[in-house]
Amino acid sequence: MAVKKMDKPNEGIKCIVNSCEYYLNGDHCTAEMIHVEPRNANSSNETDCATFIPKDKIY
Ligand code: SF4
Repeated sequence: MAVKKMDKPNEGIKCIVNSCEYYLNGDHCTAEMIHVEPRNANSSNETDCATFIPKDKIY
């Protein structure tokens, strides 16, 4: 699910996934919005960011 990549951090998000196309130095995310899954998770370990796109991939 590709979402708009902004030219500034999304201030509501801290993310350390530096292999993501939306990652910005300083542990920022530049995605306009993120989608977190799955429904009915029982712990934070069970959740993940479905907006993740590997760095340098063009969609
Ligand atoms: S899209 Fe998800 S994984 Fe990628 S930088 Fe933003 S919060 Fe992190």
